[in-house]
Amino acid sequence: MKFTHSPQAIIAIPVVNSDKSFPIHRIYCVGRNYEEHAKEMGYTGREAPFFFLKPTDSLIYVPNGSTGELPYPSLTQNFHHEIELVVAIGVGGKNIKAQDAENHIFGYAVGLDMTRRDLQNDMKKQGRPWDIGKSFDHSSPMGPILEKQSVQNLTQARIFLSVNGQDRQSSHINKLIWNIHETIEHLSSAWALKAGDLIFTGTPEGVNAVVKGDLMHGFVEGIGSIDLKVI
Ligand code: MN
Repeated sequence: MKFTHSPQAIIAIPVVNSDKSFPIHRIYCVGRNYEEHAKEMGYTGREAPFFFLKPTDSLIYVPNGSTGELPYPSLTQNFHHEIELVVAIGVGGKNIKAQDAENHIFGYAVGLDMTRRDLQNDMKKQGRPWDIGKSFDHSSPMGPILEKQSVQNLTQARIFLSVNGQDRQSSHINKLIWNIHETIEHLSSAWALKAGDLIFTGTPEGVNAVVKGDLMHGFVEGIGSIDLKVI
């Protein structure tokens, strides 16, 4: 086939202890999925989950044990970190029930849903789409994917982020308002999930700004860690 320009390269994230990479289809994100984060954003209670998407080429892959570089984006004065557990879908489906959701999971990773908070807040106030606040270039750093067979006690795992050695975000995966299986049920009622989809499952409280030169260190216990320098 002849193309008018070079097609986009396949975007894939390496799998831990494997010679394979996981090719990405879509990136779904869950909004306000930890109660204390919902409160800090001015909301209370268990609302139905809601979703937004990020472009796959917003991913920055950061190998374990190395420090990735995260370019400070344009247009913002309030560039926020959101540490998140990422679910990798291995088997697609529509209208997946929570009790069947486990069969659709390939593995997990640690990611950051970086956010231009000032722009997101402007768009919220005006009832406009969040894309300029959420779906910008380099907005989705993540580590390698750990296959679910290698994961134990995920619901008890701690999720954490520090900046320059100071604690910023600290919670547990069991504080998710909508757990992973429930999230897959809701998400797959709205979109047909496919192998290669990623779900950023939401961030706990403590979101805050980073500036150029800051070093972020995040982890989800038992899944992996991520280190990034803002440049
Ligand atoms: Mn988020």
